[in-house]
Amino acid sequence: MNAEIVAVGSELLTPFRQDTNSLYLTEKLNELGVDVSFKTIAGDARPHLTLVAQTALSRADLVIFMGGLGPTEDDLTREAVAEALGLELWRDPQILESLGKRFAARNMKMTPNNAKQADILTGATVLANSSGTAPGQWISGKYEGREKIIVLLPGPPHELKRLFEEQCMERLRSKLPPAFIATRVLKVAMMPESQCDARVAPIYRRFTDVTTTILAGAGEIQLHLKARAPELQTAQGRVDRLAGELEDELGDAVFSSQGESLEQIVGYFLQMRNATLAVAESCTGGLLGERITSVSGSSRYFLGGAIVYSNQLKADFANVPEELLKKYGAVSRLVAVALAEGIRERCHATLALGITGVAGPSGGTPEKPVGLVFHALAREAGTEVVERNFPGDRKRIRWFATQQALDMVRRRLM
Ligand code: AMP
Ligand code: MG
Repeated sequence: MNAEIVAVGSELLTPFRQDTNSLYLTEKLNELGVDVSFKTIAGDARPHLTLVAQTALSRADLVIFMGGLGPTEDDLTREAVAEALGLELWRDPQILESLGKRFAARNMKMTPNNAKQADILTGATVLANSSGTAPGQWISGKYEGREKIIVLLPGPPHELKRLFEEQCMERLRSKLPPAFIATRVLKVAMMPESQCDARVAPIYRRFTDVTTTILAGAGEIQLHLKARAPELQTAQGRVDRLAGELEDELGDAVFSSQGESLEQIVGYFLQMRNATLAVAESCTGGLLGERITSVSGSSRYFLGGAIVYSNQLKADFANVPEELLKKYGAVSRLVAVALAEGIRERCHATLALGITGVAGPSGGTPEKPVGLVFHALAREAGTEVVERNFPGDRKRIRWFATQQALDMVRRRLM
């Protein structure tokens, strides 16, 4: 069965509101073994909505509309779907009465426009909304000779979620052949997307029963694997086999195979080795510490450190010799080393990271362009440094730098 999700609301076509409901619905539908083939966003205009409804019905077996079921004049989903299906709307007196009671229970007067929330498509099953006024609706029937399921859901995310879980999951499951979906997410650190793709594509080609998606971010690539089968074990076996081959190919560039974040993995390794970590951050301004401490339980291995943005504090807090700063400048290999070694000593940590670089967009020079970052990892046995030239804007460069630094810790402890 293939599905189309239609998000209704003119606000979703502005820069101020995102359609988040469809992400939730897609996840739930995938759980049921249903693929989402199309997502459409339509504003609150009757002719547009009718056209969208007709199009969706012509190409999907299951069409879920969300939003536009409220009491206001721009809530037109019911009318548009009725028109597309050639059905009448009738006002359900029971719903009308329960709407009235809902208002009365809150000592509020029900304005007449609320009544249209009781308008039901002929033949539809009413889906009670336990957290709002507008009920959902479920219709199954033929459209252009083919069996379709059409579901209308309210737009407010908390109402939609509750209603879908309470009223739709089981109903849908009972209409579908048993299907189990197994998923895996492999995460790869500090590898260009094209390189990763070139290495995994030949393997993908041999696993036609697993769907794959590649998501690339700054310093991280996620490979999402998904397989469907009538038994969970079969589906799981398929994604696991592919994951195994991908891990063999990509080697230690894969840092996580169950969806963990890099900071989680680093925390895991630090605990396993009974090691502690400290940081001295310049251009990342605390982002590294933020990421490390976003993991619950990080106090077991993260001691802390310093944000040493000015040269003065680099010297005062991280013991960077002033001659180094004068001679080589703050963004330099030797200052990165001194930051890591200095903070390691001050914090009595097993390992320490120093980061210094040019995050931009201003401050770059021909010798030290925007994106140049030095990362140092100090430990008892010595200090290693990685120099990188990261592309992108300030935010991306800073993220890249923390990713590189965390990955150095991971590789060292692996
Ligand atoms: P409606 O049911 O169209 O009256 O929408 C009610 C509220 O839910 C509005 O504040 C919308 O912005 C919000 N909403 C509607 N559709 C979505 C959606 N697809 N994703 C997130 N929020 C939504
Ligand atoms: Mg709306």
